[in-house]
Amino acid sequence: MTPKCEFYQVCPFFTDSLVAGMPSTAKLLKERYCCDAYSKCARYRVTLDAGEQYVEDSLFPNHDEKAQTIIARVKRETGS
Ligand code: SF4
Repeated sequence: MTPKCEFYQVCPFFTDSLVAGMPSTAKLLKERYCCDAYSKCARYRVTLDAGEQYVEDSLFPNHDEKAQTIIARVKRETGS
């Protein structure tokens, strides 16, 4: 498994601290997002478009709708 995402060393989803109890789901998502389509990852999008402080622990790479909601709220609140 070779990660392409630049955040893999610090991302708690990739480093397993958020997904210790669900190895098969985590493996699938890591292969799909971290090692391939990282630019579509919800955590990646929120980091880039809102800021890493807005990436919630419960946000998984496939939570696209939740990511869009967070980004829209932050932009509204910060006026950016
Ligand atoms: S979960 Fe998303 S932000 Fe974290 S390493 Fe994978 S692609 Fe990057």
